[in-house]
Amino acid sequence: MPSNTSRYRIGLAANRAHQDAPDSALVQLLSGSRTCIELLQPELIVVGRTLDAMGQMKLLDGYAHIERFPYGRQGGLMKLVSRVVDTDPARTLDAIIYLIDPVDPSSTFPEAVALKRQCVIHGKPFLSTLAGAQEWFELEAVANGAAPDPALNDRFDLAQEGIALIAHDAMKSRMLELAEKHFEVLDKFGFRCATGTTGGLLNELAVKIKGEAGRNWVKPFLSGPLGGDAQIAELILDEQCRRVLFLEDPHVARQHEADIQLLERAARTVTGYASCMSDIKWGDRWLRQINARQNP
Ligand code: PGA
Repeated sequence: MPSNTSRYRIGLAANRAHQDAPDSALVQLLSGSRTCIELLQPELIVVGRTLDAMGQMKLLDGYAHIERFPYGRQGGLMKLVSRVVDTDPARTLDAIIYLIDPVDPSSTFPEAVALKRQCVIHGKPFLSTLAGAQEWFELEAVANGAAPDPALNDRFDLAQEGIALIAHDAMKSRMLELAEKHFEVLDKFGFRCATGTTGGLLNELAVKIKGEAGRNWVKPFLSGPLGGDAQIAELILDEQCRRVLFLEDPHVARQHEADIQLLERAARTVTGYASCMSDIKWGDRWLRQINARQNP
């Protein structure tokens, strides 16, 4: 559970294309995850137009723990950034759900970029896809005693699933620690891939743990700066790899920033399918939870 209070406080926003249609990402998330939301009783801090859309479509009708934030043009998203970094337990946010339409220009505004960056820096989940947000609610609900939702069983059949593992240079040793700690669950995936250097290191780890059988434990693509992120993006777009664990270094200028953004945009393009996790704390919790859902 969150460190600050007994209930989560979650910032919620959705780009316009993910709001209004009867099967929009917002509708699918709030209808499909309603049972988890009722169990967890999170406080939802919702940006203006997203909340208007929820009202019009009667999403979470009657739910008590909702606070309105201003419209985007009045600074709603900017205020979410401030709340992510706030140290006051009565104000800080534990996670952000920002359902991003990659072709909506507002998703590239500075406040949108800062929102994600500060989530990474402060170790708070930044959920920018429908699939990522659904999975987060499911795993947190299961961690709090709920029965797994059978409708989601397919995506937790890890033998049929792929995962991409990427770490920037300053994070590579942390990736190896994480992979060693959670080797058993990562080993259950049907397919693992990585950018070049990260992949080489992970295969060395797998050889250490499994001997020769670990030699091709992950499929290494090109190194990130040489286009590996773009190669992994294609797998995601082709729905051959659903999850990306990308330990980012938010404190340095990245020569291949465009490639990093491309990979995230690929996941958001197939929002109901893919998700990205971007920091060590969340990755650690997620790997523990996904293992627990495997073996309840
Ligand atoms: P690398 O790429 O694993 O080849 O170092 C990761 C990156 O820096 O994007």
